[in-house]
Amino acid sequence: MAEIKDYQTIVGKENIDQLFRLARRLGKRKVIHVSSTRTGGGVAEMLNSLVPLMNELGIETKWEVITGDTGFFEVTKAFHNALQGNRVNISERMLENYLENNEKNASILDLEADIVIVHDPQPASLIRSGKGRAKWIWRCHIDVSRPERRVWKFLKGFVSKYDASIFSMSKFAHNLPHPQYIIFPSIDPLSQKNRELSQKETDEIKRDFGINNLKPTILQISRFDRFKDPLGVMEAYRLVKRNTDCKLILAGGGAADDPEGFEVLTQVKEQKKGDPDIHLLFLPPTANREINALQRDADIVLQKSLKEGFGLTVTEAMWKKKPVIGGAVGGIVEQIFNYQTGFLVHSVEGAAYRIRYLLHHSNMARKMAENAKEYVRRRFLVTRHLRDYLSLFIALDHPQDDYISI
Ligand code: UDP
Repeated sequence: MAEIKDYQTIVGKENIDQLFRLARRLGKRKVIHVSSTRTGGGVAEMLNSLVPLMNELGIETKWEVITGDTGFFEVTKAFHNALQGNRVNISERMLENYLENNEKNASILDLEADIVIVHDPQPASLIRSGKGRAKWIWRCHIDVSRPERRVWKFLKGFVSKYDASIFSMSKFAHNLPHPQYIIFPSIDPLSQKNRELSQKETDEIKRDFGINNLKPTILQISRFDRFKDPLGVMEAYRLVKRNTDCKLILAGGGAADDPEGFEVLTQVKEQKKGDPDIHLLFLPPTANREINALQRDADIVLQKSLKEGFGLTVTEAMWKKKPVIGGAVGGIVEQIFNYQTGFLVHSVEGAAYRIRYLLHHSNMARKMAENAKEYVRRRFLVTRHLRDYLSLFIALDHPQDDYISI
């Protein structure tokens, strides 16, 4: 496990010193993060790094995970879909089940702290029965810019009780009766997923997956989720394949809080249609080193999402100096700028066009990928994320100062 000082060579001494200064200013504080899973998805990915680093900075930090029955995760997945704009059917009974499960969680979990940060909609209603003396912050990681109105109204009832909320982009913010902050997510350059790997390690992992042909590789790493558009990725690959030989790797697993993954994977398997150049890799939640190797080995990384909170897979690939093509949605547009740090696309045809372009313009691809890495270094590493959290905690101590800049 990396220590804060290990990041100095990556982000510079001043950034690290600043973290210690902020932590000293904050003083003794107990913080609890609450999320819905310890494995799978971007939230778990980030908390795995942030929690130990916050502790090292002297902020006593814990991470609690809620549990629920099958019905609970069905309704929270329906919330997720509805908040990102899809139509869903949610009955009154399902809403009651959501509240009951969180009431149970509130009675089991240790929520005694100075600051409680509740991640995403799944645990949002904990505040009904859990709020004691602590400041409660709702951290929303998904694109709630155009939510289905009924679901948002239901959730807003709880979100409004929080002392503050955090969104990943300003366009996700809402009319809420408390301060709202924008904090970008981040990746950890020293985690198993992002640390440097030797060519030997990468080759071994590829061999274990049975990937041995030398055709250019297009890769998408994602949970099997409709918003990640794996079927669209296959269509784009097929358009490219008409005149440029290549292979496609679609790799991902499920998240413990996502019951739809199996269904989407089944559809993807059908659409593979026996093409030996399409590799479908179903990954366990521990496959961090494997994802690292696949990303490092890819020629082009795709994240053709139709909706996206932020898209950490984009950040991860950019950090590894890969040319990335991303759907022009959510936080992906904060990361990719056309011809500078990658390409944004709006359609299957657009994705195919940009894949072909990159396969035939390797100098341009290299230059964009180099810019991409530097852009991530400045904006999307865990050290910047820690700084934002510490600054936010300090700002919470001064509610009268509306505009403490973080
Ligand atoms: N990820 C993983 N295993 C998988 C699929 C994804 O570890 O099978 C990781 C991926 O590398 C990234 C995170 O989960 O770190 C996904 O974050 P992102 O913001 O891209 O999407 P989310 O799943 O949170 O919608």
